[in-house]
Amino acid sequence: MKLFRFSFCVLMFSVWHGLCQAKPNVIFIFSDDHATQAISAYGSKINRTPNIDRIAREGALFEANFCTNSICGPSRASILTGKHSHKNGFKSNGNRFDPEQMTFPKLLKKVGYRTAVFGKWHLGTNPTGFDQWMVYPGQGSYYKPDYITPEGKKVIPGYSVEVTTDLALDFLSKQKKDKPFLLMCQYKAPHRNWMPGPKYLTKYDDVSIPEPETLFDDYSKRASVLGKHKMGIDAHMSFFYDLKVEGHEDKRYAKYMSSFLRRMSPEQRKAWDAAYGPKNEAFLNADLQGKDLVRWKYQRYVKDYLRCVAAVDDGVGRILKSLDKLGLSENSIVIYSSDQGFYLGEHGWYDKRWIYEESLKMPLVMRWPGQIKPGTKIKKLTQNIDFAPFFLEAAEAEIPDEIQGRSLMSLFNEPEALWRKAIYYHYYEAGGHGVPAHYGIRDERYKLVHYPKSDEWNLVDLKKDPSEMQSVHDNPEYKKVLDSMHSKLRDLQNHYDVETSR
Ligand code: CA
Repeated sequence: MKLFRFSFCVLMFSVWHGLCQAKPNVIFIFSDDHATQAISAYGSKINRTPNIDRIAREGALFEANFCTNSICGPSRASILTGKHSHKNGFKSNGNRFDPEQMTFPKLLKKVGYRTAVFGKWHLGTNPTGFDQWMVYPGQGSYYKPDYITPEGKKVIPGYSVEVTTDLALDFLSKQKKDKPFLLMCQYKAPHRNWMPGPKYLTKYDDVSIPEPETLFDDYSKRASVLGKHKMGIDAHMSFFYDLKVEGHEDKRYAKYMSSFLRRMSPEQRKAWDAAYGPKNEAFLNADLQGKDLVRWKYQRYVKDYLRCVAAVDDGVGRILKSLDKLGLSENSIVIYSSDQGFYLGEHGWYDKRWIYEESLKMPLVMRWPGQIKPGTKIKKLTQNIDFAPFFLEAAEAEIPDEIQGRSLMSLFNEPEALWRKAIYYHYYEAGGHGVPAHYGIRDERYKLVHYPKSDEWNLVDLKKDPSEMQSVHDNPEYKKVLDSMHSKLRDLQNHYDVETSR
């Protein structure tokens, strides 16, 4: 009898343990400012990203995934809380994230997950809800990055993408499969000022990157505020800090660039000079003017950006390989995403913030063997507030009522299930890069936006005008659409409990 009881207990323990292990691990690989235009799975015309593509091929690619507020801190706060900026309190960069509030890592920890975050955090207060964390102070550095840790500051030589990947791989190698885990690996790249690592300093040297059709946008036929931006490749990029032309008379942000260069080892600095020196000399001798100069700036900018992306894709590849090697691929959800999109010369811009497609969109690819059919394409309108409830549902944890997003799970299990018809967007900053606060909605075809400062409304027909070059808000043919979009906007503002500024 005793033996039977003992065997029964062992059996029950094994069942219980097996159930615990069945909860999927979550590996959230995240970068900063990586636009879908620079991911080959999304049809990039300018680069290849074989490792990010692998996640899409073996899992799902979300074709219409958007942020709530297109800037670093606010997007991260929306991901952690599953809520819009006005509900999680982090509306603008420079705000402080309330570390006491509900976040999905805290809730995963409650249901038995081991949790860790490495890399860029950028929320003004230290991470909470993590068993292990090592994050950059502020934006972090490309070379020899500083990390804040619970034990104090650490400085690690090397290139930030590789160093952060090393931290993630070290964490993975120490998992004993006794508990499910959440790993957030968050790169600084390819954020401004786009400093490539030693491996890719000369990648793309012998090619010309295709220009976007809207590189020379004149901002006509839309709100007047567009033309007042301060994020133009032409006028607002600095020669040294942004474009790496050392010794140029343009000294904007030069002290920052000098401090970044001082972080390099002598070998790294030598490789940097060998890569940029001759190219810079040729540029200065050419004495380019007008559109030729803008075209040169575009090439230098986008190549540096893509060189940073290449390092990120390598990091993704190293993580995928490590999961295979450790036997963790089968029971893990692997995600690649970025906090918002970015302008790679579209509308003459770099940076983000505007509700325009290039920065409103976020890449999202996800692999979950046995749960997501390889090669799945999701066309429904998803948003970064949907990540938290999805992770919680996958972990069989309760989803708190205060979460505003919807779990992505039904998109895999019931593709015909009812889903939202429009997403709400709200950018609150009033000064950064000359972009005024604005808000709006985007449905499957149209986008309505209001710029309160100038009280201008724009309506765009994305089907007829995918580059968003003309507002049709005052076109009588669109009167019905305009009324319907206003009504949808009011509905969404009520739904999300938005304090309207109208
Ligand atoms: Ca960002």
